[in-house]
Amino acid sequence: MKNHLFFIPAFIFSVLINIGGVASLYSQAKDSETPNFIIIFADDLGYGDLGVFGNPSIKTPHLDTMAYEGQKWTSFYAAASVCTPSRAGLLTGRLPVRSGMASSKSRVLFPNSKNGLPASEITIAEQLKKVGYTTAAIGKWHLGHKPEFLPTNHGFDSYFGIPYSNDMDMIDTNIGYSEYWEQPFDSIKTAHFNVPLLRDTKIIERPANQNNITKRYSDEAVAFIEKQGVSPFFLYVAHNLPHIPLFASKDFLGKSKRGLYGDVIEEIDDGVGKIIKALKAKGLDRNTIVVFTSDNGPWLPFKNNGGSSGLLRAGKGTTWEGGMREPTIFWGPGLIKRGVVSDIGSTLDVFTTFSAMAESPITQDRIIDGLDLSLSLMEGAPSPRKSILYYRGSELFAVRLGDFKAHFITQGAYGQFGERKEHETPLLYNVAFDAGEHFDVAMKNPRVLKDINDFISNHTSSLIMAKDQLAERE
Ligand code: MG
Repeated sequence: MKNHLFFIPAFIFSVLINIGGVASLYSQAKDSETPNFIIIFADDLGYGDLGVFGNPSIKTPHLDTMAYEGQKWTSFYAAASVCTPSRAGLLTGRLPVRSGMASSKSRVLFPNSKNGLPASEITIAEQLKKVGYTTAAIGKWHLGHKPEFLPTNHGFDSYFGIPYSNDMDMIDTNIGYSEYWEQPFDSIKTAHFNVPLLRDTKIIERPANQNNITKRYSDEAVAFIEKQGVSPFFLYVAHNLPHIPLFASKDFLGKSKRGLYGDVIEEIDDGVGKIIKALKAKGLDRNTIVVFTSDNGPWLPFKNNGGSSGLLRAGKGTTWEGGMREPTIFWGPGLIKRGVVSDIGSTLDVFTTFSAMAESPITQDRIIDGLDLSLSLMEGAPSPRKSILYYRGSELFAVRLGDFKAHFITQGAYGQFGERKEHETPLLYNVAFDAGEHFDVAMKNPRVLKDINDFISNHTSSLIMAKDQLAERE
């Protein structure tokens, strides 16, 4: 009888936990206090741009150490291949088509865009704030520059940064946009871009001095960590760089063997080192998870001023692997089990994983695409993610299911890698064998194509496309 009495409340509790969406998986494995979270997000960083991901001439000792002490994920994907939808996916855990932050008319938001991330969307910051976290956003936002769309209206206690891309608000140079970028990058000046720097919702500097913007973002992050008290915290540091134009402060300029692009990455890496050092100085390193990744692949038409996708095909703007597979590191010596992970992960999963680890219930009133990676991070369990949906704007171009990826539509970007092509028989690559997508194996794998088609039918049958928030301009 005693056993029955125990069993019934335990069963009800377990059902409630599952209904509430609280990730019971983490609770079972948890043995420490509520963790702090830091996301460090680069802009247009390629898969091949870090030392630990194989770059032969860019030095990234701090990120390399993070990977060695933590988990290096080799099949981790951004939610889109360009800035705005990718960031919406990261912060909400939802495919950008579900929030209206992906569009067939405009790939990203611009300084004259009317809208931004709808108030109805729930960000990671809002998820964590409701369970007592202090939250801060530093850096590029690109989810709407008007006050109602800024971080301070999306769950962040504070914001310091440039609210969109650093090449926007270009001043009149008397030469065309393309010609402008043809000139040597040492003649490109920060004053040519009239981008604002905001503190919360107020402009404090315009044009923002981009020569030291990376350093200022890292210093701001360190200052935030230093003033933390007993509450857990969530810090989102989204660098504007290495998106072009490229700028580095004088301590880094001319130092890298990889030229200006290398200088920029090495300055970002230096900031990562400062953040880790600040955590250690505060005794927070055992109870903080730091994730480093990028919003999309490298901007390849800029040649040596853009990054490298390493062994992957194509880059930013495309649904080839180089557009969306990102060099990703999870660090947290008290929480993360060391290793190299080749299982699939997505920036969409960060929302769900952090919510689970903070024990913040996820609402059941909408579809969340993120999955809980906490057991993979803490115990090295297999990733629950088996698929990736590669959207370009509001169109599904490709799908990865397990080791195989089918392209239904292919299209290059920015004048490279070909025109739009719809494939009657999809191109099929085994991206575990062939990460560079060179060898089409569709003819030999009809069953795989059928499974992928069934998977897509299942996805699209329940998909409700939200109203496009990117197209309207003022
Ligand atoms: Mg980007």
